[in-house]
Amino acid sequence: MPELPDVERFKMYVDATSLHQTVARVEVRDAAVLSGIAREALRSSLENRAFEGTSRHGKFLFLHPEFPPLLVLHFGMTGYLDYARCDREPPKHTRVVFEFAKGYRLAYVCQRKLGNVALADDRKAFIEQHRLGPDALDEQFVFDAFAERLSGRRTGIKSALMDQAVMAGVGNIYADEVLYQAGIAPQRRVPDLDEAALRKVYQAMRRVLKTAIRHKAEVSQFPRTYLLRRREADGRCPGCDNELKTARIGGRGAYFCPHCQR
Ligand SMILES: [Zn+2]
Repeated sequence: MPELPDVERFKMYVDATSLHQTVARVEVRDAAVLSGIAREALRSSLENRAFEGTSRHGKFLFLHPEFPPLLVLHFGMTGYLDYARCDREPPKHTRVVFEFAKGYRLAYVCQRKLGNVALADDRKAFIEQHRLGPDALDEQFVFDAFAERLSGRRTGIKSALMDQAVMAGVGNIYADEVLYQAGIAPQRRVPDLDEAALRKVYQAMRRVLKTAIRHKAEVSQFPRTYLLRRREADGRCPGCDNELKTARIGGRGAYFCPHCQR
């Protein structure tokens, strides 16, 4: 399910395929994915214009035409993008198709309709409205800022990492990896972690996300020391070879190693 590294990959995909081409037609195949906008508004806002650039904040991808509104894509649990010639039938579960004048199209595909497609007049206002914390990889999001945003939180560390209001971009799978790399058990509560422990979590968070992006979020390419490669029944810890444990934390399935994570 798309988290920060996956959405960064989608961003690179759009950059490599879909910029500077006039959008000839926007076809909404399923209006259930539209968030706060009518089908007609999406069409009239984007047709006959081109996307000139992209940006990302957490798990949101912004496509920037020359002037607002921006197109905002969120990928929910199963979303992705598919670019091809218009004569190629878009994948099953395509919800919106952006057809370009040059004969190619970008399909927004989402099997479970938890993703969404929106318009935003202003990027900063959108981020505030959605109560998103800083992007987890923002250069200005230094350790002190991370510690500051966690202070006063009474929840477990894993739930705090996944809370998009603390910081944006980390979800269930990468939170597990970050805590595994930091050697911290996911059940530990934020107030019980001292500065040294929080620093380990912060550094692991930055390193894991950057490593994932470098490998284009392709799990099979991740280092062998990564837990992500072993997320399965009977998975074993890449460090000590003991069986990984699972638990329900913050409503999501956590994987961790009780020997390597304290
Ligand atoms: Zn272990």
